Amino acid sequence: MSVPSLSYRGGIQKDPPYTFFKKINIVYLRYKIISNMITIKHNFFVDLKLFFDTLFKKRWLDENGYYYHLSIIDEYRKINFLNLSEEIKKELAKYNFINKLNEDYIVYLTKYGALGSFDEPNTVYANIQREPKKISLTIIHEIIHLMFEKELLFQNLSHEEKETAVEKKFKEVIINN
Ligand SMILES: [Zn+2]
Repeated sequence: MSVPSLSYRGGIQKDPPYTFFKKINIVYLRYKIISNMITIKHNFFVDLKLFFDTLFKKRWLDENGYYYHLSIIDEYRKINFLNLSEEIKKELAKYNFINKLNEDYIVYLTKYGALGSFDEPNTVYANIQREPKKISLTIIHEIIHLMFEKELLFQNLSHEEKETAVEKKFKEVIINN
């Protein structure tokens, strides 16, 4: 059995408070950055908008094989949006892409519609009928859409070409994280 040297012991006695506070600081800063850049909300009127938008686009969504949620049968199921927002924020904070954003984004959690959609310049809608990790990946996908739209990289591209470009960037984000 090896006996720890004095200096090693000294290290142990000295390090924990420093490491502890440093860790707290990192967690705090991460949380702070993300809460500045991404605001997660839920709003009844946004749900209503998504519901009717989806109804309007239903045919197109069906033809293109998209998932969407339009059922109001299970809407009485209680959802704790505050808890869900915190879980999604924690998931998002795992990605450097999110931590390095230099624009603010508003994310509306909704019971309705496709997995994700967006409105320029900075609004994302994310369907909550899945687990927080998957919701956070959808949010990243939609933010990439908004960034590309802003940089006018999407001029004259078809819907399919846009999706291909977004998915390419999305894979880079996940792999390089
Ligand atoms: Zn997309």
